[in-house]
Amino acid sequence: MTNAELNDLKKRYVANGAASPATQFADRAENALIWDADGNRIIDFAGGIGVLNIGHRHPKVVEAVKAQLDKVMHTCQTVMPYEGYVKVAEQLSKVTPVRGHAKVMLANSGAEALENAVKVARAATGKNNVICFDGGYHGRTFMTMAMNGKVAPYAADFGSMPGNVFRAPYPVPYHGVSEDEALRGLKMALKTDANPRDTAAIVLEPVLGEGGFYPAPASFLKAIREICDEHGMLMIIDEVQSGFGRTGKMFAIEHSGVEPDIITMAKSMADGMPISAVVGTDVHMDASGANSLGGTYTGSPVSCAAVLAVLDVFKEENILEKSQALGEKLGKRFEKWQQQFDCVDNGRHMGAMAAIDLVSDKAKHTPNADLAAALCKRAREKGLILLSCGLYGNTIRFLMPVTIEDEVLEEGLAIVEESLKELVGQPATA
Ligand code: PMP
Repeated sequence: MTNAELNDLKKRYVANGAASPATQFADRAENALIWDADGNRIIDFAGGIGVLNIGHRHPKVVEAVKAQLDKVMHTCQTVMPYEGYVKVAEQLSKVTPVRGHAKVMLANSGAEALENAVKVARAATGKNNVICFDGGYHGRTFMTMAMNGKVAPYAADFGSMPGNVFRAPYPVPYHGVSEDEALRGLKMALKTDANPRDTAAIVLEPVLGEGGFYPAPASFLKAIREICDEHGMLMIIDEVQSGFGRTGKMFAIEHSGVEPDIITMAKSMADGMPISAVVGTDVHMDASGANSLGGTYTGSPVSCAAVLAVLDVFKEENILEKSQALGEKLGKRFEKWQQQFDCVDNGRHMGAMAAIDLVSDKAKHTPNADLAAALCKRAREKGLILLSCGLYGNTIRFLMPVTIEDEVLEEGLAIVEESLKELVGQPATA
């Protein structure tokens, strides 16, 4: 079917289908390229929103998934366990930097991992509250909507949210929130709203994802570790977007040397197969009763086969080094753009978790969300998928596969540059 025919079906039968601006239907994909239903070739700088760090349909993952399909597709692991689940648990326990010996529960999505992390923290501490952060994003289930640092568009239409969720500022000096101020805000939240005697966990992303790709300073993460220890609260680190090699290490928290109690992960762990994980210190993970965590599909054998293949690819193809190298390349390009364009500011990257902010006034860091939207639209017309994000909607984030071929990367970056030139005029220094 053509894009036009498929769009017609989408508008008629898909919830919110008419409101969604994406109109090209993916037909086939390989590494950083997608071909749509009409045969157009598109460069993918979104990687399925951070899911495809090793590229679309990595051959080793495809092979492992196919082999698994020929063996067993589903049992529900509580009814009859299978090798893939326990092997994934073993492997994740070994690579995830949580305190002590780690145990693992698998789920299907990032939001579900966060839900379960909060369940574990409540069971382990006997306490109820969680503290989350401005700009944070954790999902679209009720608990995670309550935990998000932003109401619209996620929670705006769905009535009241679960309670026991309190918020603190995330340090983003670029937007005027210093590390000291953020820590003061956190301590204030603990003194006023969220009594530490009833607070089970502090939950945060080590680098804000949807909130704009701002990394938390190592000293801030260390301070949170200390506060958690002082009050018997768990430190839950959400690595759904930053994990699995995006930042040049397996997990972004490794840049700080801090060991949290629980890490949640999803996205790039299975190259597109749906799966997520909660990895935490054994005593906490074992705190709730048998059959209290999980669900019918959690840790599907097919997704588990994909995770094991992804972990092999990380070792065999030096994915962490590739992530570092890509980040450095992007960082250099950002510097050039910042000199070239008045509207490009704050180029930054932790490994390949890389972003720029678009502004209308560089000195004042005034966000220009309209320009970010226009850039993404113009790039899409030229055959490049580009994503914006951030509390102010003016961050352009780069989540292409770290395995992207140099020519494809250059071609994509040239489209960004060309689109910017068209939108803001030819820069004087170009
Ligand atoms: N946490 C973070 C940090 C995320 O970036 C996301 C997704 N963007 C989620 C949780 C939710 O994951 P999912 O969409 O798989 O539920």
